[in-house]
Amino acid sequence: MMLLDITPPISPRLQVWPGDTPPSRELLRDMHRGDPFTLSTLHATVHLGAHADAPSHYGVDAPTIDECSLEPYLGPCQVLHVNVPRRSCITPNMLSAAVQAPRLLLATGTYPDPERLQTDFAALAPELVEHLHRQGVKLIGIDTPSIDLFDSKDLPSHRQCLKYGMAILEGLMLKDVPEGLYELIALPLKLVDFDASPVRAVLRPLAKQS
Ligand SMILES: [Zn+2]
Repeated sequence: MMLLDITPPISPRLQVWPGDTPPSRELLRDMHRGDPFTLSTLHATVHLGAHADAPSHYGVDAPTIDECSLEPYLGPCQVLHVNVPRRSCITPNMLSAAVQAPRLLLATGTYPDPERLQTDFAALAPELVEHLHRQGVKLIGIDTPSIDLFDSKDLPSHRQCLKYGMAILEGLMLKDVPEGLYELIALPLKLVDFDASPVRAVLRPLAKQS
């Protein structure tokens, strides 16, 4: 069974949003020090590498990640590569192919190294969210740290997702994934009251790749 892992490694080198908590590992017990077992604690933001945003991240009193249906995070999915300039938004006319699945992952190539923070990544135009909603898309994923531009203050695409109940995956690694149809598996953890969760995102090819 072939699985494509589209998750960046979680280590202290993984970049997080400026001001957010980078991952670190606290060793409580260590067999190398003579302890009978190894035991460690993870300290990190929940917006860590490949992650699912909960609506409560961008909407007051909106559902937290434990309250979100898992259904968007598992099932038929399409990967599209988009030719979009840095620091700009993907509009509907930039999509190179018709939408064929209820989950859409967009590869922009504008954030190629998750261990190097870049602020000029591309994002989604709010009208793209509306366009995809009308075509039955229920999850949008992207290979950048946010579906809104780095400098965005009012997060228009996140707000559009709130309006349409669209699930969001950010921080995916898609550059080596050919366009086509897959099964997406990217379940968030059941973190009560949290505004996001890291996911282990993988793709299983569904149809013959072009
Ligand atoms: Zn987000």
